[in-house]
Amino acid sequence: MPGKNLSREEAQQRAGLIEVESYRVHLDLTSAPDPAAPTFLSTTTITFRAATPGAASFADLLAPGVRSVTLNGRELDPAQVFDGTRVALDRLEGHNVLVVAADCAYSRTGEGLHRFVDPVDGETYLYTHFEPADARRVFANFEQPDLKAPFTVSVTAPAGWDVYANAVHESVEEQGDARTWRFAPTRPISTYLTAVVAGPYHVVRDHYSRELPDGTRLEIPLAATCRKSLAEHFDAAEILTVTKQGLDFFHQEFDYPYPFGKYDQCFVPEYNIGAMENPGCVTFREEFVFRSKVTEAAYEGRANVVLHEMAHMWFGDLVTMKWWDDLWLKESFADFMGSYGLIGAGTRYRSAWITFANRRKAWAYQQDQYPTTHPITADIRDLEDAKLNFDGITYAKGASVLKQLVAYVGREAFFEGARRYFRRHAFGNTVLGDLLSVLEETSGRDLKAWSSAWLQTSGVNSLTPQVTCDAEGRITELAVLQDGGTPRPHRVAIGLYDRDETGALVRTELVELDVAGARTAAPELAGRPRPALVLVNDEDLTYCKIRFDEVSLETLRTGLGDLSSPLTRALAWSAVWNLTRDALMPARDYLDLVLRFAGQESDIGVLQSLHQQARTALDLYADPTWRAEGARLLAECALRELRAAAPGSDHQLAWARFLASAADGAEHLQLVAGLLDGTARIDGLAVDQELRWEFWLTLAAAGRATTEAIEGELRRDNTASGKQRAVKCLAALPTPGAKAAAWSAVVDSDELPNALVEAQIAGFAQPDQRELTAGYTDAYFELLEPVWAQRSIEIAMRIVGGFFPRLQTEQSTLDATDAWLAAHPQAAPALRRLVLECRDNLARALRAQVCDRG
Ligand SMILES: [Zn+2]
Repeated sequence: MPGKNLSREEAQQRAGLIEVESYRVHLDLTSAPDPAAPTFLSTTTITFRAATPGAASFADLLAPGVRSVTLNGRELDPAQVFDGTRVALDRLEGHNVLVVAADCAYSRTGEGLHRFVDPVDGETYLYTHFEPADARRVFANFEQPDLKAPFTVSVTAPAGWDVYANAVHESVEEQGDARTWRFAPTRPISTYLTAVVAGPYHVVRDHYSRELPDGTRLEIPLAATCRKSLAEHFDAAEILTVTKQGLDFFHQEFDYPYPFGKYDQCFVPEYNIGAMENPGCVTFREEFVFRSKVTEAAYEGRANVVLHEMAHMWFGDLVTMKWWDDLWLKESFADFMGSYGLIGAGTRYRSAWITFANRRKAWAYQQDQYPTTHPITADIRDLEDAKLNFDGITYAKGASVLKQLVAYVGREAFFEGARRYFRRHAFGNTVLGDLLSVLEETSGRDLKAWSSAWLQTSGVNSLTPQVTCDAEGRITELAVLQDGGTPRPHRVAIGLYDRDETGALVRTELVELDVAGARTAAPELAGRPRPALVLVNDEDLTYCKIRFDEVSLETLRTGLGDLSSPLTRALAWSAVWNLTRDALMPARDYLDLVLRFAGQESDIGVLQSLHQQARTALDLYADPTWRAEGARLLAECALRELRAAAPGSDHQLAWARFLASAADGAEHLQLVAGLLDGTARIDGLAVDQELRWEFWLTLAAAGRATTEAIEGELRRDNTASGKQRAVKCLAALPTPGAKAAAWSAVVDSDELPNALVEAQIAGFAQPDQRELTAGYTDAYFELLEPVWAQRSIEIAMRIVGGFFPRLQTEQSTLDATDAWLAAHPQAAPALRRLVLECRDNLARALRAQVCDRG
């Protein structure tokens, strides 16, 4: 559709012309409970200034229909001025009032105003999600982050509902079966940050209070909400505890009072992402309301997200990037603050930096090695580019680089820089230079070279120790070699490790140094005895791939699990995983490390990522002729460790899930079936609803579950989550009919909501069903362009990424991908980017298989 994909240039021009004074938005949501009602009435009044009277511009609006458009009292004909994506505005005056009344659509894709009906009780729930540019699906506006304004929102909703928005409500007026909620004006915020959450939500209220440095008191009402049918599982007290710890911590670090009044945290259904930092009205995916037992890693992950979104109240909401090129200005900081805050705020999650090193950075390393990688400060031409940039670079690499910056300029200079940045740019918009200038002021350092090395170039460096010794086995020189792309300045710590009297591998020496260029010597280590292991980037200060000298690698092969420090082990696991991905370590060697040492891993988050990586190594990186043997070994390991794990422990649950994923052969499947029907037991293992669905998926994919049995389980768990799980199980059945049905449900209709699209795709491709799905490769390439043109970008991204034949690890799949890319140079750049990344994963798998073949 013309005008849907707003470009940076158009946004710049419009910002040069227009200054928005205020928005008034009224939404009439009384039609929402009627599933046959496709739309709601949205009325927007925008007052704005135009720098050039007489000029023309446009407002953004994605709506099925427009009832009226009035500009400065002139009635404009909607048929003339509205093209489906934009409202054309001409003859602007110095001061303007625009009123647009539109019929906007309820969403099923999680973009705009999403509508969900709870199968448990039939209740309807609504919430908005707008980033980067979907507020225009709900009200007419100027959809770009640098046109900030105060919003005054009112909502008419069914009488039994609560309504949440960015500000507190000032009045609620009864009107028969409906109530109108009027909210206070917000501070100036960007359109993508506005939010409305409406429905019969369950709510838990609390309060935060703090004395400010000037002696006044800051009072913040707190609320946490979820659907009524999830209330029994809602541990709001834990969420609110982390919330208060975070508010204490960020006030202390940022020295700028929380600017948005109240703080609501709404857990909402069928949410596309983890969470969104709407000022005063944060939305989270409701999978964070745990229905069944989860491990401590899941609680830590949720607490991290709570703090990430809270950090955005300052980084992003108070001070906002001018355009999506500088998305990192908010996401990298929030991502860093998520982990930093878990430790700094004194939460119970002490493993935050281990998780960061092992899981978060893996995402960055993966993304940064795609041919599509980009500098942290990106070149974002338009909104489709923006949509794809919520990626491992903007979040995880950016956060890693900030961690490195703290090591480089020091903690105090870093936070004093942040404090100045907030004071100087409050309620405004910024670019990279605004941040660098405050950091240069507070650190006294010239950061231009640092910025160009770290923020303005792409790619990941590898750091390798080079150890030379004399005849007595003493180090004559230890140097760090840097390769892989542009060399960067790295502040690193180098750890030396040896076995102690108990056999544990412990650190005997740690030195910090600045690595620069291709080779940097560490003279202070000369003369020391040659250690069993040299670890560059110990303590995980910098962002790099860690490599090893041969002696060190051999030490890991024989004793990785003997490393006593959990952070060191996490770094070692991460390094051997990178070696495997880079076809420098055979997949079967990596799996051998998992088989021997995963059982010793104490950190539950690291263990769970080992489980995922083992699965990937087997499915993609191992020589196909060895796969059956590898599968047998992994399944045996899973069962052995499950039986050995402490009853009721997180480790036991993680191994049970891994058994579900790795079960191989009749004995394991029989055990899984027995755990489901109660004829088998493992002491302390509660086979609760989520674990039941894991086991059903195992049986379904193996052809040991009938459609009737899966539907029977759905009757037992007739919930939103149950429905998603059942759909996934049905799609996983090993029959041509099941595959055809899943494919068709996603591709041939746009009736399915986002969550069920995801479930169908997740069930469709199963590792042991390669032959069943091989025939879909051609169909996949044929659907790419139509899907991109016809479906919302959120759904299109899932189909393009999810249906790529990633398990068909053969040269012919690579050839088909290359043929499509060669034949479609003009396809949308964002679509090509997704296909190029899938291609790269496949090429990597083929290289790894060659390595594994030996
Ligand atoms: Zn964020």
